[in-house]
Amino acid sequence: MRRKVIAGNWKMNNDLQQSVTLIEELKNSLAEKALNCDVIICPPFTSLYEAKKLIEGSLIKLGAQNMFYEDEGAFTGEVSAPMLKSVGCEYVILGHSERRTIFGEKDEMINKKVKKALAHNLKPILCVGETLEEREKDVTEKVVKRQIEKGLNDVTPDEILNVIIAYEPVWAIGTGKTATPQQAQEVHAFIRKLLASMYSKDFAAMIPIQYGGSVKPDNAKELLSQKDIDGALVGGACLKADSFIGIIEAA
Ligand code: PEP
Repeated sequence: MRRKVIAGNWKMNNDLQQSVTLIEELKNSLAEKALNCDVIICPPFTSLYEAKKLIEGSLIKLGAQNMFYEDEGAFTGEVSAPMLKSVGCEYVILGHSERRTIFGEKDEMINKKVKKALAHNLKPILCVGETLEEREKDVTEKVVKRQIEKGLNDVTPDEILNVIIAYEPVWAIGTGKTATPQQAQEVHAFIRKLLASMYSKDFAAMIPIQYGGSVKPDNAKELLSQKDIDGALVGGACLKADSFIGIIEAA
């Protein structure tokens, strides 16, 4: 049985004080609950250190939203895997569609980041997904296959069990348009088959594949009940404690 993983990608939202408030709210609400899933929050870099202190003793885990693939050096504006480890991160989102489209990140760069994260014991949440144009051209599987094969290039069988895949159709991110549970399940099953061919059936059965794209408390249950959907990567709805908790409770 795969344990579900619900992760909140705060994106470029919440200054330090707002982060503290949101984490306190989450912590208080989750304290009384028995959780059926792992819960990860991914605040902006500027809140990570404080976030780590605040989640101490709770079930909430910490992730970052991005990192660079070198350990240190002349890379103005970048943050490295050792830096993320030093403030207590356990996870890092890599290859998010906003990184791919706005910042021009390509599969090869994302793969270097995935390898570097794993080398430092950070668990990558590798995001993949097709654009609307690609879905309409019926090349969803081809695109997702390329993103996964290239993104996981040279990731060993020992390492793969520390990776989470997030299937996020780009047309569903921040748009209010969700893939239907059937549409999402179809791609998740395809990803699991692909992982089985790259590693093994047993390994593929253990790798969590999250769905992301306008997940809300009212659509979470049906999405999360699909056979190959092992959790959610949540954007907009993780910025309010109530709606994030609603999704966690649906898992
Ligand atoms: C995301 O950015 O990863 C995401 C899924 O955003 P939203 O939930 O707002 O669509």
